[in-house]
Amino acid sequence: MKIRVFNCQINGQTGYDLCVSNEEATVQDYLDAVNGYITAHCPPCDGCTSCCRERVPLTAQDVAVYLRDGEIRRLLGTGGTGKFSDPAPPLLPEFLKRFGHVYVDGAVVDIGLAHRRGGACIFLDPGRKRCTNYALRPLVCQTFICRPVSRRADELRGRLVNAGMDELVRRWLLESRRAGVRPVMHEARRPRPQLSDYRSGACSGKEYYRQLRLKDVCSPGLWRALYKS
Ligand code: SF4
Ligand code: SF4
Repeated sequence: MKIRVFNCQINGQTGYDLCVSNEEATVQDYLDAVNGYITAHCPPCDGCTSCCRERVPLTAQDVAVYLRDGEIRRLLGTGGTGKFSDPAPPLLPEFLKRFGHVYVDGAVVDIGLAHRRGGACIFLDPGRKRCTNYALRPLVCQTFICRPVSRRADELRGRLVNAGMDELVRRWLLESRRAGVRPVMHEARRPRPQLSDYRSGACSGKEYYRQLRLKDVCSPGLWRALYKS
């Protein structure tokens, strides 16, 4: 087991913590460990849907999962493989236009899933209180646990979302340029996003979470806090 997720006490309540015991542990190992912990230790979700009414930030790898899905590609009215490297017209701008929410404030960009009027995530079926794309749900949804979280586990989650979104912003700018369209923006205040602000990093060129090592995304301090050989 490369990653262990376990119960701990936080402010007198049962919360969760995690540690990593293998330097080759990937983001997919992290997701598998968190999902295993939820199944084994957490009471069943009561379907209140409150976590599906909050901001849902997206990473490049989250979007790659959606773009590989046949049904999503059918809804976008396109074929191809859905891979970022596919020479067919890029799907990312169209995906974000239809299912995303791009907020730009000056040079800062935030990309998440779109919300319906009333605040529910675009993929939530409010009547059935179910995610209509549960198998494809983003990292932030897979790792949301209704209980207190240790500082290092929370930092790891935040770090993965931030690094993955930076790569998504880079791809949003690159793919929009390749498609010859203005980058889609749903809300903007004096937008001036620059590709030079979003350089290649650990997440670049990785379409699958299994390709991305945790160690390569963590700061040295966070890695020291997480890694126990
Ligand atoms: S996981 Fe989300 S939907 Fe389920 S009980 Fe917690 S907040 Fe409500
Ligand atoms: S993708 Fe699914 S699980 Fe995530 S917020 Fe939307 S409806 Fe909820």
